[in-house]
Amino acid sequence: MAVGKFHEILDKIISDNVPVKVVRVVEPVILYASSAWAPAANKLGVRKRLSAVQRSFAQKLCRAYRTVSLNSALVLAGVLPLDLRVREMASLYVAKRGAHLPVLGDRDIERVASALERPHPAEQVGIELRSLVDEEQYLEHRGYEVRIFTDGSRIEGKVGAALSIWIGEAEAKTLKLALSPHCTVYQAELLALCEAANEISRRKENVFAIFSDSMAALQTVADPDSLHVLAVRMRGALSHCKTQGKSVSLFWIKAHAGLEGNQRADALAKAAALRLKKKPNYDRCPVSFAKHVIRMDTLGEWDRRYSAEQTASVTKLYFPIASEAYRIIRKIEMTKEVAQAFTGHGGFSEYLARFKCKESPACICDPYVDESVAHVLLECPVFGSARFDLEIELGQRLDARELPNLMQKTCARNLFLKYAIKIIKEAYGSTSASWMRQYPGARLTDYDVAGMTIVIAFIKAARLEIAQSGFRCTAPEIGPAPSNSALTVSSATIELQQAIPTINQPTND
Ligand SMILES: [Zn+2]
Repeated sequence: MAVGKFHEILDKIISDNVPVKVVRVVEPVILYASSAWAPAANKLGVRKRLSAVQRSFAQKLCRAYRTVSLNSALVLAGVLPLDLRVREMASLYVAKRGAHLPVLGDRDIERVASALERPHPAEQVGIELRSLVDEEQYLEHRGYEVRIFTDGSRIEGKVGAALSIWIGEAEAKTLKLALSPHCTVYQAELLALCEAANEISRRKENVFAIFSDSMAALQTVADPDSLHVLAVRMRGALSHCKTQGKSVSLFWIKAHAGLEGNQRADALAKAAALRLKKKPNYDRCPVSFAKHVIRMDTLGEWDRRYSAEQTASVTKLYFPIASEAYRIIRKIEMTKEVAQAFTGHGGFSEYLARFKCKESPACICDPYVDESVAHVLLECPVFGSARFDLEIELGQRLDARELPNLMQKTCARNLFLKYAIKIIKEAYGSTSASWMRQYPGARLTDYDVAGMTIVIAFIKAARLEIAQSGFRCTAPEIGPAPSNSALTVSSATIELQQAIPTINQPTND
């Protein structure tokens, strides 16, 4: 795999400021034909290689620092681990081809009909589909010898289908069909249509009309190229009717438009779903259901991995369960400040000291307390006032144990993130460059700290650390860091920043 080329393209996409969603095109590129090489993804070496590729683009997607762990970056970018995606694709591929999948239990997946089951092109019957939008149009087409109304329904997690057969003004016969609970309404509608065609081939009358309110099902049946197994079966039944000399017309009618036959079929389908106690007439699980089950299995595996690994400790404060985060994270607009709050990788002394960019991890408020993101957001007295305002708005005390709950609720989450962004911006914000220009080569001393008010001192200390550390956020909007990354700010770098303030230079690991 041309990993280098891939990085080049990715960096280009990021630096061109193409919307982040575009980056999601890279995953399908990597996953191309993955079902063929899926067994290789279980090897540790391959997994590591996939993780290395994915870590870099997940960090860029969530705008986090490049020191952020794979676990954290994946959760915040809302992307599943690549090796699990490979396994997913392979599972679906074999399931679609009839192989047994343990996650599906004893259910069989609905497979497309084989080309052998289709009629010879010369024997294909053309199916005309007409739409009746109101009762008036329906009344014009009610002169058929036998009218069959079909409907499918899903109610209380159960699925049923029904036929209501009318001769003249009266209902002559009804048929109820049961489907397995994992089936869709679309499958129920198709089954009802298929059964209607079978019923026609069994009857002695000659002119029939079938009315359904499912345009999707009717179009599938009318499309000669559709290989849906029920559509192929119905087309077979219709061509048999043709050889018997029977005429069958297909109509789409509007649902809930007050047509007696349609309402009757609807009620029968609901009753079939709720009360029919017999072996299902159709039990193939749709591909969508198989996808859902396989995805649930993947999320379970991801949860196990996420909680077993030691990394992402700050992210786990907010999202202790990876699959929960996967659901929530797409509702959050990820900015570099949010990423710093969720990862702890930012201009915090604890982080800088961990990466040997600062001597002491202590916060300005107390030399014995580490300045971690949790401390800054939840405890530090420097931001006591903003925190107090937030607690009033939330109606509760801000506590580390409450963070997962806050993330679940949209309103509380938005309030908290607004607060976190404000603090992170205030402390380590975009004005750092102008401060650096004001004091080129400055070094903050204890004397300076004593002479300043506590907030100003805190902000200056933090900004100076960022300026000196050379650490950069991987988000596109941040400017270039000093190229020598030494612990001094050279005036040449500052001049460079003044000259080209908007240059975007993606990082290279
Ligand atoms: Zn503090």
